Amino acid sequence: MSEEKKDVKEEKLSLREVLGINRRIFGICAKARPGFFVLRFTVRILEALSPYVTLYCSARFLDELTAARRPEILTRWVLLILGLTAVFRIAGSLLKRMEDAQTATESYWINWIYGKKALELDFAQADDARCSDQLTQILQTSNYGGRGIWQFTYMLPALAGILFKVAGGIALSVSLFTLPVKPEYQGLPLLKAGLGLAVGGILAVLILSPLLAAKRVKAELATTEAGRSGNRFYFFFGFQIFTEEKRALDIRMYRQDLYALEMMEKGNSWGLHGVFQKLQKGLAGVIGGITAGLSQCMMGCIYLYVCLKAWYGAFGVGSVTQYVGALLSLAGGISELLSMGAQMRGNTVFLKQVLEYLDIPNEMYQGSLTVEKRSDRQYGVEFKDVSFRYPGSREYALRHVNMRFNVGEKLAVVGQNGSGKTTFIKLLCRLYDPTEGEILLNGINIRKYDYQEYMSIFSVVFQDFQLLDAPLGENIAAGLSCDEDRAVECLEKAGLGEWYRTKADKGLKTWLCQRENADKGIQVSGGEGQKLAIARSLYRDAPFLVLDEPTAALDPLSEYEVYTRLNEIVEDKTAIYISHRLSSCRFCDEIAVFHEGQVIEKGSHEGLLSQGGKYAELWNAQARYYQQ
Ligand code: ADP
Repeated sequence: MSEEKKDVKEEKLSLREVLGINRRIFGICAKARPGFFVLRFTVRILEALSPYVTLYCSARFLDELTAARRPEILTRWVLLILGLTAVFRIAGSLLKRMEDAQTATESYWINWIYGKKALELDFAQADDARCSDQLTQILQTSNYGGRGIWQFTYMLPALAGILFKVAGGIALSVSLFTLPVKPEYQGLPLLKAGLGLAVGGILAVLILSPLLAAKRVKAELATTEAGRSGNRFYFFFGFQIFTEEKRALDIRMYRQDLYALEMMEKGNSWGLHGVFQKLQKGLAGVIGGITAGLSQCMMGCIYLYVCLKAWYGAFGVGSVTQYVGALLSLAGGISELLSMGAQMRGNTVFLKQVLEYLDIPNEMYQGSLTVEKRSDRQYGVEFKDVSFRYPGSREYALRHVNMRFNVGEKLAVVGQNGSGKTTFIKLLCRLYDPTEGEILLNGINIRKYDYQEYMSIFSVVFQDFQLLDAPLGENIAAGLSCDEDRAVECLEKAGLGEWYRTKADKGLKTWLCQRENADKGIQVSGGEGQKLAIARSLYRDAPFLVLDEPTAALDPLSEYEVYTRLNEIVEDKTAIYISHRLSSCRFCDEIAVFHEGQVIEKGSHEGLLSQGGKYAELWNAQARYYQQ
């Protein structure tokens, strides 16, 4: 048995915990989609109450019809029944449409709760497999049976509806017990026996139903792991294996489709012989049968009592229909209430997992200082004796790095693979915090700044940048609104002017395609993509421009073009380049040479060459293989 399976089975939450967890989840959902619950609650409550209105009015109508038969009273009741039914139906139908519309967008805002948290996580945590595993588990559990927030958003309003159903049932049936029979029949043993049976039946249902419901929920909880793995299994053998492009050859060659069909038949926990169907056919079926039998017995007892009281003159025929209808509904409501209670309790185990994920503390992004907006771009950043170890690693990736960025200058960062260049950029952008030492912006530790504000002074082209499957302009602006002149200017600067004029037939509206939408617009090559990423970083117009291997995908001519036009591209920004190609560094004001996590040399191209140190060694090594 896996750890996780044990966890879910053995998790026992007290009533207080259950209430606390559900209350917090309610707050989170209500904040994510205000109005959603108001609508759902209203619809469920209307659905619960409308039958009672008709029931009550019809009973009064029948009582009048079988007694005094006054035409004006009869007319009043008929009009009231028609009017109220119409109001309930029209309102119910309108609200239900609105609810359906809300339901259709539910997955969007629930996913956003997780997506937002994933973005708010410290980068180090987002990078950590345990964190992503936590989220995967939540999503997988949700995918099968909607356990977690999905079930909660359905169950809580349903619970409110059930409570109203029960309350309405009680309100309309109380008088059954209080209205006296004719004086001559009072105290009849038959009536007492009828009352005893009715009360006994209700008590039996009240006591046994929750026990049975809890047993069923417990059995369902035990299938959690089978559900999760079954979901993966089902997706792979039931779908992915047939459609995945990379499997197209193998599946034909080895007839893996036959194997997949066999697996679906035999190994699938969702199949006819899997745990879920066994549960449905076995325990769940038996429990369902016993519960239905119990409530039928209870109904029988109640019917008997109603008939006895009517027989001995406590009320007329109209009230009989009222009591029978109300008690029927009350009995249904009580068993729904008990089963819903057990289900909500069971679902709380998954809500707890959701909260555990949402509660992962964000330690890095706690700063609150605003970053001063400076039109002169005088942002001074300094590394002061910075050392850094990745979480869980014993080796230092950076050691005692001291560096000051001179505003408006171009700095090249060079060094062999693994020397710490990318780590240096990650710390600069505060994706990680230094293990020792500090990084200052205008003399203040960058931890003290609001994270988003601090980020806004950087524009980075990462090595593994990603473009969007969206129009060119929206890609450049990273948003729906795009300043067209500025976007075209950035494309020109990034060396895409000619490409834009000849290839982008719909201008900035030209769609950039990834695989899925190949016929919708144009495909971009690796080199074009890299230049587009540069254009996007220029559009952001941040005072710091960081380019991590910005020419890796470019052909030698384009690479030369980018570097010779560096001044034009960068303008007055402070620029930092990471590059393997030392020839590109000649265009920079200063070069920092990284080696085993340390900055071992710093200076201009000529100065470093004449020093005859590491830089000269790297330069000479490259000169041997490439024409510099
Ligand atoms: P460069 O960019 O110069 O190639 P990096 O900054 O990527 O070097 O890596 C510096 C050192 O940190 C290397 O020893 C590398 O293995 C290690 N490192 C990089 N990323 C991680 C990580 N996420 N977790 C642990 N170690 C890492």
